[in-house]
Amino acid sequence: MSETADRILAGNRRALARAITLVESSRADHREQAQALLAEIIHGTGGAVRLGISGTPGVGKSTFIEAFGQFLTAQGLKVAVLAVDPSSKRTGGSILGDKTRMEQLARDPNAFIRPSPSGGTLGGVARRTRETMLLVEAAGYDVVLVETVGVGQSETTVSDMVDMFLLLLAPGGGDELQGIKRGVMELADLIVINKADGDLLAPAKRAATEYRGAIGLIRPKHAEWRARVRLASALRNTGIDEIWRDIEKFRQAMGENSGLERLRAEQARSWMWQELTDGLVQALTQDRRVAEALPEWESRVAEGQATPGAAADALRALFLAQSKG
Ligand code: GDP
Repeated sequence: MSETADRILAGNRRALARAITLVESSRADHREQAQALLAEIIHGTGGAVRLGISGTPGVGKSTFIEAFGQFLTAQGLKVAVLAVDPSSKRTGGSILGDKTRMEQLARDPNAFIRPSPSGGTLGGVARRTRETMLLVEAAGYDVVLVETVGVGQSETTVSDMVDMFLLLLAPGGGDELQGIKRGVMELADLIVINKADGDLLAPAKRAATEYRGAIGLIRPKHAEWRARVRLASALRNTGIDEIWRDIEKFRQAMGENSGLERLRAEQARSWMWQELTDGLVQALTQDRRVAEALPEWESRVAEGQATPGAAADALRALFLAQSKG
Protein backbone atom coordinates (compact mmCIF):
# COMPACT_ATOMS: atom_id res chain seq x y z
CA MET A 1 0.00 0.00 0.00
CA SER A 2 2.73 2.48 0.88
CA GLU A 3 3.93 2.68 -2.69
CA THR A 4 0.40 3.59 -3.81
CA ALA A 5 0.21 6.25 -1.11
CA ASP A 6 3.54 7.71 -2.23
CA ARG A 7 2.40 7.83 -5.83
CA ILE A 8 -0.84 9.56 -4.89
CA LEU A 9 1.02 12.09 -2.75
CA ALA A 10 3.31 12.70 -5.73
CA GLY A 11 0.25 13.55 -7.82
CA ASN A 12 0.18 10.47 -10.05
CA ARG A 13 -3.18 10.46 -11.83
CA ARG A 14 -3.35 6.74 -12.50
CA ALA A 15 -2.64 5.89 -8.89
CA LEU A 16 -5.28 8.43 -7.90
CA ALA A 17 -7.89 6.98 -10.27
CA ARG A 18 -7.20 3.46 -9.03
CA ALA A 19 -7.44 4.54 -5.40
CA ILE A 20 -10.81 6.16 -6.11
CA THR A 21 -12.03 2.91 -7.66
CA LEU A 22 -10.96 1.14 -4.46
CA VAL A 23 -12.78 3.69 -2.31
CA GLU A 24 -15.91 3.29 -4.44
CA SER A 25 -15.96 -0.48 -4.16
CA SER A 26 -18.50 -2.02 -1.84
CA ARG A 27 -16.47 -5.19 -1.26
CA ALA A 28 -15.47 -5.61 2.38
CA ASP A 29 -11.82 -6.39 1.60
CA HIS A 30 -11.61 -3.35 -0.70
CA ARG A 31 -13.13 -1.23 2.01
CA GLU A 32 -10.45 -2.37 4.43
CA GLN A 33 -7.69 -1.63 1.91
CA ALA A 34 -9.23 1.76 1.17
CA GLN A 35 -9.26 2.70 4.85
CA ALA A 36 -5.64 1.64 5.21
CA LEU A 37 -4.69 3.74 2.21
CA LEU A 38 -6.65 6.76 3.48
CA ALA A 39 -4.85 6.47 6.81
CA GLU A 40 -1.56 6.73 4.96
CA ILE A 41 -2.49 9.83 3.00
CA ILE A 42 -4.56 11.69 5.60
CA HIS A 43 -1.63 13.91 6.61
CA GLY A 44 -1.62 15.24 3.02
CA THR A 45 -5.31 16.21 3.02
CA GLY A 46 -7.19 19.39 3.86
CA GLY A 47 -5.28 21.71 1.55
CA ALA A 48 -7.98 22.36 -1.02
CA VAL A 49 -10.71 24.92 -1.28
CA ARG A 50 -13.82 22.72 -1.04
CA LEU A 51 -16.76 24.06 -3.01
CA GLY A 52 -20.23 22.65 -3.52
CA ILE A 53 -22.16 23.59 -6.66
CA SER A 54 -25.83 22.87 -7.01
CA GLY A 55 -28.58 23.74 -9.41
CA THR A 56 -31.47 22.19 -11.27
CA PRO A 57 -30.83 20.43 -14.59
CA GLY A 58 -30.38 22.95 -17.39
CA VAL A 59 -29.32 25.83 -15.18
CA GLY A 60 -25.82 25.61 -16.61
CA LYS A 61 -23.79 23.65 -14.04
CA SER A 62 -21.53 21.88 -16.49
CA THR A 63 -21.05 25.02 -18.60
CA PHE A 64 -20.21 26.94 -15.44
CA ILE A 65 -17.81 24.31 -14.11
CA GLU A 66 -16.13 24.18 -17.50
CA ALA A 67 -15.63 27.98 -17.52
CA PHE A 68 -14.77 28.28 -13.84
CA GLY A 69 -12.45 25.28 -13.91
CA GLN A 70 -10.51 26.71 -16.85
CA PHE A 71 -10.34 30.09 -15.13
CA LEU A 72 -8.70 28.37 -12.18
CA THR A 73 -6.27 26.20 -14.15
CA ALA A 74 -5.23 29.32 -16.11
CA GLN A 75 -4.04 30.68 -12.76
CA GLY A 76 -1.93 27.58 -12.23
CA LEU A 77 -4.37 25.91 -9.85
CA LYS A 78 -5.21 22.21 -10.02
CA VAL A 79 -8.94 21.51 -10.06
CA ALA A 80 -10.87 18.35 -9.25
CA VAL A 81 -14.53 17.95 -10.15
CA LEU A 82 -16.52 15.34 -8.21
CA ALA A 83 -20.25 14.75 -8.02
CA VAL A 84 -22.93 13.46 -5.70
CA ASP A 85 -25.86 11.96 -7.52
CA PRO A 86 -27.67 9.22 -5.62
CA SER A 87 -29.84 8.37 -8.61
CA SER A 88 -26.51 7.78 -10.39
CA LYS A 89 -28.30 7.59 -13.68
CA ARG A 90 -29.26 10.38 -15.97
CA THR A 91 -30.60 13.43 -14.21
CA GLY A 92 -32.50 15.54 -16.68
CA GLY A 93 -30.35 14.38 -19.55
CA SER A 94 -26.99 14.81 -17.90
CA ILE A 95 -24.72 12.66 -15.82
CA LEU A 96 -23.20 14.69 -13.03
CA GLY A 97 -19.48 15.06 -13.29
CA ASP A 98 -19.52 13.53 -16.73
CA LYS A 99 -16.43 14.32 -18.75
CA THR A 100 -18.29 14.71 -22.01
CA ARG A 101 -20.21 17.60 -20.47
CA MET A 102 -16.96 19.41 -19.74
CA GLU A 103 -14.92 18.51 -22.76
CA GLN A 104 -12.32 21.25 -22.63
CA LEU A 105 -11.77 20.98 -18.92
CA ALA A 106 -11.49 17.20 -19.23
CA ARG A 107 -8.53 17.66 -21.57
CA ASP A 108 -6.80 20.08 -19.23
CA PRO A 109 -3.84 18.35 -17.53
CA ASN A 110 -4.49 20.34 -14.36
CA ALA A 111 -8.09 19.18 -14.09
CA PHE A 112 -9.36 15.85 -12.81
CA ILE A 113 -13.00 14.96 -13.40
CA ARG A 114 -14.74 12.05 -11.76
CA PRO A 115 -18.44 11.27 -12.18
CA SER A 116 -20.64 10.46 -9.22
CA PRO A 117 -20.11 7.02 -7.68
CA SER A 118 -23.02 4.90 -8.76
CA GLY A 119 -25.44 2.85 -6.78
CA GLY A 120 -26.46 2.82 -3.17
CA THR A 121 -28.05 5.31 -0.88
CA LEU A 122 -27.30 9.02 -0.72
CA GLY A 123 -25.28 8.32 2.42
CA GLY A 124 -23.21 5.71 0.64
CA VAL A 125 -22.58 7.91 -2.40
CA ALA A 126 -21.67 10.81 -0.11
CA ARG A 127 -19.22 8.72 1.89
CA ARG A 128 -17.39 7.67 -1.26
CA THR A 129 -17.29 11.26 -2.54
CA ARG A 130 -15.93 12.47 0.81
CA GLU A 131 -13.18 9.88 0.71
CA THR A 132 -12.44 10.74 -2.91
CA MET A 133 -12.12 14.36 -1.86
CA LEU A 134 -9.40 13.34 0.62
CA LEU A 135 -7.59 11.45 -2.15
CA VAL A 136 -7.61 14.36 -4.59
CA GLU A 137 -6.40 16.68 -1.86
CA ALA A 138 -3.54 14.32 -1.11
CA ALA A 139 -2.75 14.34 -4.82
CA GLY A 140 -2.28 18.10 -4.65
CA TYR A 141 -5.50 19.50 -6.09
CA ASP A 142 -6.06 23.07 -4.96
CA VAL A 143 -9.78 23.37 -5.60
CA VAL A 144 -12.37 20.59 -5.31
CA LEU A 145 -15.77 21.21 -6.87
CA VAL A 146 -18.54 18.89 -5.78
CA GLU A 147 -21.46 19.06 -8.15
CA THR A 148 -24.97 18.03 -7.23
CA VAL A 149 -28.40 18.48 -8.66
CA GLY A 150 -31.10 20.62 -7.14
CA VAL A 151 -33.45 17.92 -6.01
CA GLY A 152 -34.05 16.31 -2.66
CA GLN A 153 -31.58 15.85 0.14
CA SER A 154 -28.39 15.89 -1.87
CA GLU A 155 -27.75 19.62 -1.39
CA THR A 156 -27.70 19.29 2.37
CA THR A 157 -25.37 16.32 2.06
CA VAL A 158 -22.97 18.21 -0.21
CA SER A 159 -23.14 21.35 1.91
CA ASP A 160 -22.04 19.18 4.86
CA MET A 161 -18.82 18.18 3.08
CA VAL A 162 -17.64 21.51 1.64
CA ASP A 163 -16.41 24.87 2.90
CA MET A 164 -18.65 26.95 0.72
CA PHE A 165 -21.87 26.20 -1.12
CA LEU A 166 -22.73 27.85 -4.45
CA LEU A 167 -26.28 27.77 -5.70
CA LEU A 168 -26.68 28.26 -9.44
CA LEU A 169 -29.94 29.73 -10.68
CA ALA A 170 -31.11 30.91 -14.05
CA PRO A 171 -33.51 33.75 -14.76
CA GLY A 172 -36.95 32.42 -15.49
CA GLY A 173 -40.21 34.14 -16.28
CA GLY A 174 -41.11 36.31 -13.29
CA ASP A 175 -41.91 34.98 -9.84
CA GLU A 176 -38.29 33.98 -9.39
CA LEU A 177 -38.60 32.89 -5.82
CA GLN A 178 -41.49 30.54 -6.44
CA GLY A 179 -39.58 27.53 -7.61
CA ILE A 180 -36.84 27.49 -5.08
CA LYS A 181 -37.13 25.95 -1.69
CA ARG A 182 -36.24 28.09 1.26
CA GLY A 183 -34.20 25.27 2.76
CA VAL A 184 -31.89 25.26 -0.26
CA MET A 185 -31.44 29.02 -0.12
CA GLU A 186 -30.44 28.73 3.51
CA LEU A 187 -27.55 26.50 2.50
CA ALA A 188 -26.16 28.92 -0.07
CA ASP A 189 -23.10 31.03 0.72
CA LEU A 190 -23.18 32.44 -2.78
CA ILE A 191 -26.07 32.59 -5.21
CA VAL A 192 -25.02 32.81 -8.84
CA ILE A 193 -27.61 33.91 -11.37
CA ASN A 194 -26.24 32.29 -14.50
CA LYS A 195 -27.22 33.10 -18.09
CA ALA A 196 -26.96 36.82 -17.40
CA ASP A 197 -26.42 37.53 -21.09
CA GLY A 198 -28.36 38.70 -24.15
CA ASP A 199 -32.10 38.79 -23.65
CA LEU A 200 -31.73 37.16 -20.28
CA LEU A 201 -29.59 39.93 -18.80
CA ALA A 202 -32.52 42.11 -17.74
CA PRO A 203 -34.50 39.28 -16.11
CA ALA A 204 -31.26 38.10 -14.48
CA LYS A 205 -30.79 41.51 -12.90
CA ARG A 206 -34.38 41.51 -11.65
CA ALA A 207 -33.88 38.02 -10.24
CA ALA A 208 -30.72 39.16 -8.47
CA THR A 209 -32.62 41.98 -6.79
CA GLU A 210 -35.32 39.60 -5.65
CA TYR A 211 -32.84 37.10 -4.26
CA ARG A 212 -30.89 39.80 -2.48
CA GLY A 213 -34.11 40.75 -0.75
CA ALA A 214 -34.91 37.16 0.07
CA ILE A 215 -31.54 36.24 1.55
CA GLY A 216 -31.67 39.37 3.67
CA LEU A 217 -34.54 37.70 5.52
CA ILE A 218 -32.69 34.46 6.16
CA ARG A 219 -30.66 33.89 9.27
CA PRO A 220 -26.99 33.73 8.19
CA LYS A 221 -25.45 30.26 8.14
CA HIS A 222 -22.15 31.54 9.53
CA ALA A 223 -21.58 34.47 11.87
CA GLU A 224 -18.58 35.41 9.70
CA TRP A 225 -20.31 35.57 6.32
CA ARG A 226 -23.45 36.91 4.71
CA ALA A 227 -24.59 35.21 1.52
CA ARG A 228 -24.20 37.22 -1.68
CA VAL A 229 -25.86 37.22 -5.08
CA ARG A 230 -23.80 37.51 -8.27
CA LEU A 231 -24.57 37.58 -11.96
CA ALA A 232 -22.61 35.42 -14.37
CA SER A 233 -22.64 34.07 -17.87
CA ALA A 234 -20.91 30.72 -18.04
CA LEU A 235 -21.37 30.79 -21.81
CA ARG A 236 -19.73 34.19 -22.32
CA ASN A 237 -17.32 33.82 -19.44
CA THR A 238 -18.43 36.85 -17.49
CA GLY A 239 -18.68 37.21 -13.74
CA ILE A 240 -16.35 34.29 -13.13
CA ASP A 241 -13.48 36.32 -11.69
CA GLU A 242 -15.86 38.12 -9.35
CA ILE A 243 -17.12 34.78 -8.07
CA TRP A 244 -13.57 33.62 -7.39
CA ARG A 245 -12.92 36.86 -5.49
CA ASP A 246 -16.00 36.18 -3.37
CA ILE A 247 -14.70 32.71 -2.63
CA GLU A 248 -11.38 34.18 -1.54
CA LYS A 249 -13.20 36.73 0.61
CA PHE A 250 -15.26 33.96 2.14
CA ARG A 251 -12.10 32.06 3.02
CA GLN A 252 -10.57 35.16 4.52
CA ALA A 253 -13.66 35.91 6.60
CA MET A 254 -13.94 32.30 7.73
CA GLY A 255 -10.21 32.12 8.41
CA GLU A 256 -10.49 34.74 11.07
CA ASN A 257 -11.30 33.21 14.46
CA SER A 258 -10.61 29.80 12.87
CA GLY A 259 -14.16 29.62 11.51
CA LEU A 260 -13.17 27.31 8.69
CA GLU A 261 -11.21 25.02 10.99
CA ARG A 262 -14.19 24.75 13.28
CA LEU A 263 -16.53 24.07 10.36
CA ARG A 264 -14.32 21.28 9.03
CA ALA A 265 -13.81 19.78 12.49
CA GLU A 266 -17.56 19.71 13.01
CA GLN A 267 -18.11 18.15 9.57
CA ALA A 268 -15.52 15.46 10.29
CA ARG A 269 -17.05 14.67 13.68
CA SER A 270 -20.54 14.40 12.30
CA TRP A 271 -19.26 12.25 9.40
CA MET A 272 -17.73 9.89 11.98
CA TRP A 273 -21.01 9.64 13.87
CA GLN A 274 -22.84 9.01 10.62
CA GLU A 275 -20.47 6.16 9.77
CA LEU A 276 -20.76 4.79 13.28
CA THR A 277 -24.56 4.91 13.27
CA ASP A 278 -24.81 3.41 9.78
CA GLY A 279 -22.41 0.63 10.72
CA LEU A 280 -24.31 -0.19 13.90
CA VAL A 281 -27.65 -0.29 12.13
CA GLN A 282 -26.16 -2.55 9.51
CA ALA A 283 -24.65 -4.86 12.13
CA LEU A 284 -27.98 -4.93 13.93
CA THR A 285 -30.06 -5.81 10.91
CA GLN A 286 -27.55 -8.44 9.83
CA ASP A 287 -27.52 -10.09 13.25
CA ARG A 288 -29.15 -13.51 12.88
CA ARG A 289 -31.25 -13.51 16.07
CA VAL A 290 -32.36 -9.92 15.53
CA ALA A 291 -33.26 -10.67 11.92
CA GLU A 292 -35.37 -13.61 13.09
CA ALA A 293 -37.19 -11.61 15.75
CA LEU A 294 -37.63 -8.46 13.66
CA PRO A 295 -40.73 -9.37 11.56
CA GLU A 296 -42.64 -10.45 14.66
CA TRP A 297 -41.87 -7.22 16.51
CA GLU A 298 -42.63 -5.13 13.46
CA SER A 299 -46.09 -6.62 13.06
CA ARG A 300 -46.81 -6.35 16.79
CA VAL A 301 -45.90 -2.67 16.61
CA ALA A 302 -47.96 -2.18 13.46
CA GLU A 303 -50.97 -3.85 15.08
CA GLY A 304 -50.68 -1.84 18.24
CA GLN A 305 -49.87 -4.84 20.44
CA ALA A 306 -46.51 -3.46 21.46
CA THR A 307 -45.18 0.07 21.69
CA PRO A 308 -42.32 0.98 19.33
CA GLY A 309 -40.21 1.78 22.39
CA ALA A 310 -40.69 -1.66 23.94
CA ALA A 311 -39.99 -3.37 20.62
CA ALA A 312 -36.80 -1.36 20.15
CA ASP A 313 -35.69 -2.18 23.71
CA ALA A 314 -36.27 -5.90 23.14
CA LEU A 315 -34.43 -5.94 19.82
CA ARG A 316 -31.54 -3.92 21.20
CA ALA A 317 -31.27 -6.24 24.20
CA LEU A 318 -31.20 -9.22 21.87
CA PHE A 319 -28.42 -7.64 19.82
CA LEU A 320 -26.35 -6.60 22.80
CA ALA A 321 -26.68 -10.04 24.43
CA GLN A 322 -25.44 -11.54 21.18
CA SER A 323 -22.46 -9.25 20.81
CA LYS A 324 -21.43 -9.83 24.43
CA GLY A 325 -21.48 -13.59 23.96
P1 GDP B 1 -26.66 21.61 -16.43
O1 GDP B 1 -27.71 20.61 -16.75
O2 GDP B 1 -27.00 22.39 -15.21
O3 GDP B 1 -25.28 21.05 -16.38
O4 GDP B 1 -26.69 22.70 -17.61
P2 GDP B 1 -25.76 22.83 -18.91
O5 GDP B 1 -24.44 23.38 -18.54
O6 GDP B 1 -25.78 21.54 -19.65
O7 GDP B 1 -26.53 23.97 -19.72
C1 GDP B 1 -27.87 23.82 -20.15
C2 GDP B 1 -28.12 24.72 -21.33
O8 GDP B 1 -27.98 26.08 -20.92
C3 GDP B 1 -27.14 24.52 -22.46
O9 GDP B 1 -27.81 24.63 -23.66
C4 GDP B 1 -26.14 25.64 -22.28
O10 GDP B 1 -25.54 26.05 -23.49
C5 GDP B 1 -27.03 26.75 -21.72
N1 GDP B 1 -26.26 27.70 -20.91
C6 GDP B 1 -25.38 27.37 -19.90
N2 GDP B 1 -24.81 28.49 -19.41
C7 GDP B 1 -25.35 29.54 -20.10
C8 GDP B 1 -25.16 30.97 -20.04
O11 GDP B 1 -24.39 31.50 -19.25
N3 GDP B 1 -25.91 31.70 -20.90
C9 GDP B 1 -26.79 31.15 -21.78
N4 GDP B 1 -27.47 31.98 -22.57
N5 GDP B 1 -26.97 29.82 -21.87
C10 GDP B 1 -26.27 29.02 -21.05
